[in-house]
Amino acid sequence: MKLEFEEYRPRKIINVHKHVDGPWFWSKYSAHPYVGCRSGCEFCYSRGGHYLGSRDPDTFDTLIRVKINAVELMRKELPRKEKEIIVAGDWQQPAEDRYRLSRGMLEVVLEHGFPLFIVERSPLLTRDLDLLVDINKRSWVGVVYSISSLDPALKRAFEPRSPGVKRRLKAMEEIARSGIRVGTSMMPIFPYVGDSEDHLEDLVLATKDSGGSFILAGGLTMQGVQAERTLAALRNLDPALEGRWRGLYHWRPGGKPIYAPPDAYSARMGLLIRELCARHGLPDRIPRYIQPGPLATNTRIAEKLFLKTYDLELEGARSSKIWAYRKAAWTVDELSESVAEIHEREGQAGLEKLPSVGRSIATEIARWIGSVDKVEVKSTGNGAPSKS
Ligand code: SF4
Repeated sequence: MKLEFEEYRPRKIINVHKHVDGPWFWSKYSAHPYVGCRSGCEFCYSRGGHYLGSRDPDTFDTLIRVKINAVELMRKELPRKEKEIIVAGDWQQPAEDRYRLSRGMLEVVLEHGFPLFIVERSPLLTRDLDLLVDINKRSWVGVVYSISSLDPALKRAFEPRSPGVKRRLKAMEEIARSGIRVGTSMMPIFPYVGDSEDHLEDLVLATKDSGGSFILAGGLTMQGVQAERTLAALRNLDPALEGRWRGLYHWRPGGKPIYAPPDAYSARMGLLIRELCARHGLPDRIPRYIQPGPLATNTRIAEKLFLKTYDLELEGARSSKIWAYRKAAWTVDELSESVAEIHEREGQAGLEKLPSVGRSIATEIARWIGSVDKVEVKSTGNGAPSKS
């Protein structure tokens, strides 16, 4: 299978998200030096959305566009940004063997002391472990290995050219030994073929045995060419299941699927993962890195508000209630003054004046302030779970 590189010089490298993406990767920025990926997983959302622009999505794994000035741009843009988490990943591919742009970008991240979160499928990540350890000492690094399942049949069907799962788990072990927080992202969970309790529990256990300290799980999204290819892969694996997938995604032949599985299915999966994680002593979210400083309490309180949105989703709560917590989380996360100081000066009434924070959420925030204040403000930034 041919592989071509096309070099170009974009005008910028760092994407700034409108809000931190709690309660998922907790990142505010993303930066990727390559567009396209040699692994070519059938379900990769980068095939389906706006990521490829106008190019043919079928060239996703044969034509890799290379941002040849990535390091230079990073050096220019990063010092102008607030110190928030940058998410990057899936960069360990043939393009990196040749260009080493990700390594150059990591050096800039280290130089400027930014925290970093990596989402990766390749064990080759360990070749940059020296730099990751240094970044972790200066600020913080978290790594999540994407592993949908331990079942070789699923790997062959949906991601035939990605690196082997056992090698990923070995790399996880090495990363954990180096003192970096690492876990597994069970994304995507494949409906009806990879979502049984046994399947999921095997992966939770393998994560734990490999030194992983958290699990994150998410469903399969379906869009455009990516959806067609993923369904074709399922058809090759087990044609009898096509109808069930079509039913789940409300996808009539000739029509379009819904983007994500229905809320009830996602909540059922989330609760199952939560139960399995509890059984084996792992959290089902990534504990948030808390930057030491005067706004550390805000970051932790916002984390709690974001986590509440996830709990509510699993409970099947009304979307208006979920949105109320989400908006309050954004408010607290983006506030330039400490909520603890507001509370000390004006009491709960001061919290209630904040945008999108009504009386009942203000009551919760006031209660949390009392419990996080002493512990969290002194956080050393190792991302350890809250003691409150
Ligand atoms: S390794 Fe990651 S980026 Fe590459 S195709 Fe697979 S899911 Fe997409």
